[in-house]
Amino acid sequence: MRDVHLLQEVAAARTYCEAARARGEVVGLVPTMGALHDGHLSLLRRSVAENDVTVATIFVNPLQFGAGEDLEAYPRGFDDDVRLCAAEGAAAVFAPSTAEMYPAPPVTSLDFGGLSAVLEGACRPGHLAGVGVVVAKLFAIAGACRAYFGEKDWQQLAVVRRLATDLSLPVEVVGCPTVREPDGLALSSRNAYLGSAERAAAGVLHRSLRAGAGLIEAGERRTGAVEAAMAEVLASEALLGPVDYACVVDAATLQRREPLAGELRLLVAAHLGGARLIDNLGAAAPPP
Ligand code: AMP
Repeated sequence: MRDVHLLQEVAAARTYCEAARARGEVVGLVPTMGALHDGHLSLLRRSVAENDVTVATIFVNPLQFGAGEDLEAYPRGFDDDVRLCAAEGAAAVFAPSTAEMYPAPPVTSLDFGGLSAVLEGACRPGHLAGVGVVVAKLFAIAGACRAYFGEKDWQQLAVVRRLATDLSLPVEVVGCPTVREPDGLALSSRNAYLGSAERAAAGVLHRSLRAGAGLIEAGERRTGAVEAAMAEVLASEALLGPVDYACVVDAATLQRREPLAGELRLLVAAHLGGARLIDNLGAAAPPP
């Protein structure tokens, strides 16, 4: 296992990335909130394979948590995380304190128009704006790099892509497939909140996505019919709490399409015990 550089200051992280580029090395950036699992590790592996130097970041970003959300309870396991980053071949871990990242509460805010008005943006006001600010900061600190994000957070990936494009940031955003448990449950740090009965029930999210995607691939073009099928599967699981949304939208714009056409994304968010789980799946509507 290689030694991993632990960077805790913004200036140190910036200098580290600049020095790598000065040596002609390409930097890969993997932003996380820690409590690392195989989903995060898949991003790290891809970055290590595609770049000379991988910098993992571990920062639980208070700006993206709403009042009454799980900021304090969010799982943390710093020493294990650093070991995992080292084992995967990351060269450095950037793990700033909140005071280091936000010496003063930022007054700058980011709005992503229609992309952040729907789905997570509608259910968690300010969440995507908070993601935008922290990712913009990480991109500003890292400088020119490739940055790896999971499709698990499809809307976040869409927002981050537009952030880089709209602001001409020198960052190539790379989306990586969702890593799942054998029953289809997407790996998430928040799965730690699930009790054993809830864990057994959690596969219903992926089953509902697959039911919707199956209908689309069989030729269904009505948004309402696909969403009803998704809702029906979710309703079949007695332990599942409130469903925030079970939708099918255009994969790039995240807006509704009627009739369904082109590249689509099915997305669900639902409460299960003390956890709020999100997941999504792609589907392509076959041409008529
Ligand atoms: P988080 O620590 O939850 O903020 O996630 C950090 C990064 O890991 C984000 O880009 C997520 O989309 C990605 N990620 C989280 N879970 C998974 C998963 N199951 N498969 C692939 N990527 C994931």
